Amino acid sequence: MPCSRKPHGLPKSERPAANLKCKASSGDPFPQIDQRSEEFEKVIKSVSRVIDAMPLLAQPHFRRQAFASAERAARRSLPLGIRRLISHGTAFECPVCESRVSRFRDFGNCKNAWCPVCGSMPWHRLAWLFFQNKTSLFDGSPKRLLHIAPEPELAKRFLAVKGLDYLPVDLDPRRPYVKERMDITEIEYPDHSFDGILCSHVLEHVPDDRKAMREFQRVLKPGGWALIMVPLQLNPTVEDPTCTDPRERERRFGQFDHVRIYGPDLADRLSEAGFSVSQFSGRDLLSSDAEAHRMKMWSKAFHCSK
Ligand SMILES: [Zn+2]
Repeated sequence: MPCSRKPHGLPKSERPAANLKCKASSGDPFPQIDQRSEEFEKVIKSVSRVIDAMPLLAQPHFRRQAFASAERAARRSLPLGIRRLISHGTAFECPVCESRVSRFRDFGNCKNAWCPVCGSMPWHRLAWLFFQNKTSLFDGSPKRLLHIAPEPELAKRFLAVKGLDYLPVDLDPRRPYVKERMDITEIEYPDHSFDGILCSHVLEHVPDDRKAMREFQRVLKPGGWALIMVPLQLNPTVEDPTCTDPRERERRFGQFDHVRIYGPDLADRLSEAGFSVSQFSGRDLLSSDAEAHRMKMWSKAFHCSK
């Protein structure tokens, strides 16, 4: 299962240098050089990422993923009514934007993956149904939800929920909808701060994922829950911290910036962090296989209770 997320929770040794400013001595006639150095550093880092990924452009499915990502972003810029009109149909339905569409669109090698109206992927639709059917998130009473690396299609909906104190965070505070910067391996909030946590397709990017899981457990209130979703394989988890070559990561972990590919034993890691863990799929939230088929939800998720 592909994902299009950016690295999150990198260890300090892999984070951008915190301060490579040129030191301006007292009376320096060009003090603005500090700011220029920071901007230059950001540009160099972005260019480096593109160069790292260049060899992957030779792979057809990577090109298809990149094209799909661009198309999703372009569609989001259209008015909702136009998106619904050009995608209208009866074969499929999206619970996130409540649209009926003729088909979902492909993402890389995944057929019928994303909603042409809101851009939701199968795991977004699964998460939304979970919130609707298995939580009290929408009952109007005050709740505090921590959303790691917010997906625009879900963030828009959460922002409209009455009574919800919604905190979307990311390692990169410049990403859309992000309210504040957060390293999930060092969450700067006290114990028992949140009623719920949504962390979807992030942990496979995080070198010290166990520390992130412990942090989730710490900041949840007693009785709180975390919804964890990652790309899954049938075999046990494979990881190798020494594997840093993008092409090798693509081959072994499924994407150039993944540090591992999880298996069902992810449940054990979550349990070790102190959670009571259960797994579910779309079929567990819906009344029939046909309904699950119409929403194209093939993902599995981990419901972690504190
Ligand atoms: Zn949708």
